[in-house]
Amino acid sequence: MNAVVELRDVHKSFGSNVVLKGVSFSIPKGQVVAIIGRSGSGKSTALRCMNHLEVIDSGTIHVCGHAIHSPDIDLRRLRMDVGIVFQSYNLFPHLTVEENITLAPMAVKKKSAAQAREIAERTLRQVGLADKAKAYPEQLSGGQQQRVAIARSLAMEPQVMLFDEVTSALDPQLTGEVLRVIETLAADGMTMVLVTHEMEFAARVADTIIFMHHGKVWETGPGTMLRDPQTPELREFLAHGL
Ligand code: ADP
Ligand code: MG
Repeated sequence: MNAVVELRDVHKSFGSNVVLKGVSFSIPKGQVVAIIGRSGSGKSTALRCMNHLEVIDSGTIHVCGHAIHSPDIDLRRLRMDVGIVFQSYNLFPHLTVEENITLAPMAVKKKSAAQAREIAERTLRQVGLADKAKAYPEQLSGGQQQRVAIARSLAMEPQVMLFDEVTSALDPQLTGEVLRVIETLAADGMTMVLVTHEMEFAARVADTIIFMHHGKVWETGPGTMLRDPQTPELREFLAHGL
């Protein structure tokens, strides 16, 4: 299997609310997929299922060789391979930027303090915040905090990164700096899934765009598909959003 991520006929309900109705797609190594769609279409649920934050009802999901649907899934190892970043950055306020980043490599990957500091230095450079290691989250802008959250995730050296609307809480001028970090990761060959409302960004950075509608993959194609929607639902979404 060459795909780093592969969903096959994934179904997921919350009570009587059927949220994913047979979702299938796969992502080859080094590719970027953007998932777009109206609020409530199941984008976040699909993403969370990929990291076993939600348990699927039926179908299969493979991520980095882990069979997510299997009862034998090793969550610790899965989460070493998969990084996830949310809209809310959830940094520990009482820890410095560096301490926020070194925590998991030391606790989970058993890195020494010196090794973890080196990793923090490298990942902070990656997100353009090399000078903020000793700062506390509250001293940073929202965009900078989100970049720290990305650095913290990268510190675990994941094979895949999942981003769920990571710029939605940010002012437009801070959105750009976070998107540029994601774009750099894409250029470096990171396999990524981006749930985003940034259509221009999705069209430019994603190899494939998936338009989800009512819990299904409604339309899929390259970035150019946004200029030439094939379904009335995508046309409507692009015209009116959310
Ligand atoms: P999107 O990210 O596209 O806005 P979501 O995947 O968050 O959509 O939500 C899809 C549907 O699933 C919504 O109706 C939402 O209320 C429901 N949902 C999501 N998470 C839960 C949950 N943990 N418990 C119950 N319902 C949920
Ligand atoms: Mg969502």
